[in-house]
This record gives sequence, C-alpha cells and structure tokens, in this order.
Amino acid sequence: MRKVLAAVATASYETRVQEFAVPSISPNSGLLKVEMVGVCGTDVANYRHISDPRILGHHVVGYIEQIGADAATKWGVKEGDRVAMEEYLPCGQCERCREGLYRACQFTDSRRGGMRYGNTSIGIEPSLWGGFSQYMYLHPSAVVHKMPEHVPAPEAVFTLPLANGFEWMCLEANVGVGKTVVIQGPGQQGMACVLAAKAAGAEKVIVVGRQTSIRRLELSQQLGADAIVNTTTENVVDRIAELTDGNMADVVVDVTSGGSEPITQAFQIVKNRGLVILAAYKYAKVPEWDSDLVLAKSLTVKGLRGHSYRSVKMAINCIASGTFPISILQSHSFGLNQVDVALRTAGGEGEPNPLLVAVEPWA
Ligand SMILES: [Zn+2]
Ligand SMILES: [Zn+2]
Repeated sequence: MRKVLAAVATASYETRVQEFAVPSISPNSGLLKVEMVGVCGTDVANYRHISDPRILGHHVVGYIEQIGADAATKWGVKEGDRVAMEEYLPCGQCERCREGLYRACQFTDSRRGGMRYGNTSIGIEPSLWGGFSQYMYLHPSAVVHKMPEHVPAPEAVFTLPLANGFEWMCLEANVGVGKTVVIQGPGQQGMACVLAAKAAGAEKVIVVGRQTSIRRLELSQQLGADAIVNTTTENVVDRIAELTDGNMADVVVDVTSGGSEPITQAFQIVKNRGLVILAAYKYAKVPEWDSDLVLAKSLTVKGLRGHSYRSVKMAINCIASGTFPISILQSHSFGLNQVDVALRTAGGEGEPNPLLVAVEPWA
C-alpha cells in the first residue's frame, strides 16, 4: 500500500517531510486528498513555538478520496467530491455544540487539550491532522462543506478567513446598507472584512495600515474598499473625520498583528454608540487605553474569533458568485518540501510581499 508524504513541524522554525501509513477508514470517517492549503497566521504562530511534532495547515480544500458509508450519508458527500474543511473537530454533544457555537466546544480547543486540524500531535493516530500533507484524515467529527468545481483553488482556500469576515461584519456587527466600517490591518483578515462588508452593502469601507503595507492597502481598494489611510504619513483620527464628514465609524475592527496603538485609536475613530471589534491577539497589555471613552461614547466592545457553519456557507457563496476578484490576494505558492519557506514568508520572514501564501502538496 502507498505511503503519505507530509511536512511535519518538528521544532520551532523547522519542518521535515515524513512518510505516514495510509489510515484505514471506518464507516464514520474518510480520507481527503489535499488540493491546496492557505497558510494562516495561526500556523505561523504555531510554527514559531512548536510543542510536539504536528502537521500544520488548516485552510484546506481537497477531494474526498475515500469515505465510510455512514460519513457519506451524514455529510452528504461521496468519493470524488470537492470540499472545503473547517479546522474544528467539535464533539456535537455539549451545550456549546447544541447551540451551534461549536467553535467554542472544549473538544476542539487546542489550548485546553482538544483536537483540531492543523494543530494536533502526530502522536495521536492516525497522525494526518494537518493540511500540509498529501492526504488528511477525515475524523467522524470533521466539518466539511462542498466546494463548487469552478472555483479556483487559491480562492477556495480563502474560505475560512472570509468566513471570519462574514461572521464578524455581518452576523456580529450587523454591517449593512448605510454603515461606515473602518478596518485596521490590511492582512488576510482585513481583506476578508472588506469583502464581507462590501458584500453586505456597507456604504463606506476604510482600510487603515502602515506605509510598509501600501501594496496591500491598494489591493484592498481593488477588492472594493472605498478609501485607505496610511498611518505612516497621515493622522488617522483627522483623516477618518474627513472621510466620514465628521461622523466617524459605526464599526471599527482591529485585525493588526502587533502593537496596541490601533486599539487606542479604534476608540477614537468610532462614533458614539458604535462598535469596536477586537479580533487579533496582542500578547501584551494596552497601557494607554482609556476605558472612560467606552462610557462617554456608550460604546460596545466585542472580542471575536472564528466562524460558524453559517458564515462558512456565506463565504463559499460569495466566492462561488465570482463577484469579487479574490484571486488577486494570492501572492505565493509552494510545494511540500518548501513548507518552511511558506511559513516564513507568511510570517514576513521569507519572500517579499506576502498576502495569501499557499501550499500545494502534490505540486
Ligand atoms: Zn486559520
Ligand atoms: Zn461540543
């Protein structure tokens, strides 16, 4: 029987291509032939601080290679179907799962000993828990979504980031016609928020970023952003006031990777009774944060992470519609033996100008 090749993150900043046995499939499970995987910021963070060896990569699109009869019935898919995967492996039984909030199920929370795709030890059989692999094991708790054949792979692997965009902008922030949204940080998540806000009919979408991200800021305009603000050359508060005729933003979402300054800024550029969404970890305190502003402006602050089944469907519908030129986000693609370069590039330590970095295990 053939073997499976996978790139295993073995230590910090190190991956090695290893061989694994093809798992045997029960009536409840299956095997996915991985087509393409988008590299996520979470993959980069895990790559930098690896605890025990694991196959990273969880923005996965692929083809059902093999599937048990029960799984085929429950998931509504058959061998040969193209699917996009969620990273979660929810139990389906707990209160969170029953409420549809399965991203909060403790069995899929890797920080609490749970398992999820792209962040589970190879010591747990059958080891194929990540996308940087020719095949991925489809666990009975896997969440799969059919992906139409006409969607280009680089767009298909944008499903999960875009699902976050729809979750935060549409389902949590009620962005729609007439709303003004400011997005801090023109990375994958920022672009996803631009797309979701525009798809929802937002009147004005403004993207804020540094001079070093000027290319991304310009790309955000090609995706539909109405204006950009360069924090290196412009005063953000003044500029947002100017762009909104002094009204400021209904919703501000922070998806910048480092530094707490965007958070203090968010509270200044949001309008009275507006909403500030914190959606990127800082791994640091925000010392200059003025909590009185929350009171004085009657603000709502939400910390948000992840997506729901519904927002993934919204993302797939948006991508499949071809309304937005999502392909322009793709910046790099690498094979299995270059997963290190892919992860470094996505983390800003490899090839220049990363945005959507992908891995193609069969390339
Ligand atoms: Zn991710
Ligand atoms: Zn659960």
